Amino acid sequence: AIPLVVSVSTSLAATNGFLIRNRAAFEQSRNLQAVIFDKTGTLTEGTFSVTDVLNFNDQFSDDEILTYAASLETNSEHPIAKGILERAENTLDVDEFNSITGKGIEGVVDGKNVKVVSPGYIREAEMDYPKKKVEEISSQGKTVVFVIIEDKLCGAVALGDKIRESSRNAIKTLHEMGLECVMLTGDNQQTADYVAKELNIDQVFAEVLPDEKADKVKEVQGQGKRVAMTGDGVNDAPALAQADVGIAIGAGSDVAVETGDIVLVKDNPEDVVNLIKLSGATYNKMI
Ligand code: ADP
Ligand code: MG
Repeated sequence: AIPLVVSVSTSLAATNGFLIRNRAAFEQSRNLQAVIFDKTGTLTEGTFSVTDVLNFNDQFSDDEILTYAASLETNSEHPIAKGILERAENTLDVDEFNSITGKGIEGVVDGKNVKVVSPGYIREAEMDYPKKKVEEISSQGKTVVFVIIEDKLCGAVALGDKIRESSRNAIKTLHEMGLECVMLTGDNQQTADYVAKELNIDQVFAEVLPDEKADKVKEVQGQGKRVAMTGDGVNDAPALAQADVGIAIGAGSDVAVETGDIVLVKDNPEDVVNLIKLSGATYNKMI
């Protein structure tokens, strides 16, 4: 039988904004030393809007760069895709679409080979571009993706996301409770550093590929800490599973929600604090 105090806390949990899917993980929540957060869609709202279009060589107009990028993005569910599609005037047919895991997407648009990719991809391909301008934009916390058309780096699209106000409060309170706050993201280092600094994050892992996210959770556990991982994306699911407590954002992907031990139904990072407090209040009362 379920102890009365636990079943009471389950309904308390629902009014507090989270759903308990794994009771043992709920109990563990009072013993955590670190909380790891995914960036996009978790600490930030995950709704991107285009702020700048950079044109590196005027081979194509700004509108053409946007159109080629947006055409590919019709096949993607990444928040970046939504932002670019919102801004583009029109899209063209795409053949041979392919996603480059953790780095971008590629395909044939209007007979041309097009790629929309991360700064990390460009670095590895050793392609040249006006670094100063891009660094200036990235260090403002914006996400920059590059547009390659027929193997030429033609331009870039910068997108802005919003840090959730509730993320600030959550991290402040977690610090007061003595927990370490860590951020994990596939986004580039400069963008990640900006958000981390804004939120007072203790440890940052940037440019992490989807299949490396769980390893980073292990790395923090290897520092002798019991950790919770909070995330929303398909690529967060293995990390949620690896963590001592996996916390999914309710509005996130089905895979994340199904993997999470706890689901934040109001998508509010402050409910991580409420979860830890309720776990303590519940289990410290029991004999
Ligand atoms: P995250 O969820 O933290 O953004 P991802 O692994 O999904 O991590 O993406 C990592 C990076 O790969 C993004 O920051 C972006 O640069 C690039 N990327 C991924 N998907 C797309 C896409 N659909 N369009 C453009 N760039 C993308
Ligand atoms: Mg995310």
